[in-house]
Amino acid sequence: MDPHDVRRLAQEFSTEANIAVEVDFPEGAEGVWPTPEAQLLADRSFYDFLGPECSDKPCQHVNCQRGAISQSVLCSVHHFESVRGRTCPFNITPKI
Ligand SMILES: [Zn+2]
Repeated sequence: MDPHDVRRLAQEFSTEANIAVEVDFPEGAEGVWPTPEAQLLADRSFYDFLGPECSDKPCQHVNCQRGAISQSVLCSVHHFESVRGRTCPFNITPKI
């Protein structure tokens, strides 16, 4: 499906459902959306965009030992799950 069609459909759906639908195309994923590989690329792009976690600002999620990212009270994994509404596939040991 053409990426422009996907964006148009997302726009129509979000207008009808009165919700926000985010459609992003990471480099290399244009024209192949929405395959699982493209989904993973988009997820990784978003996850990387969140930036580093701060070791002196703990994540506010229950029992989380990670640091929060600069624009949130959550770590990158829990911020990802909060925004995307599903399990973060990049829940690995933090770089701090
Ligand atoms: Zn966390």
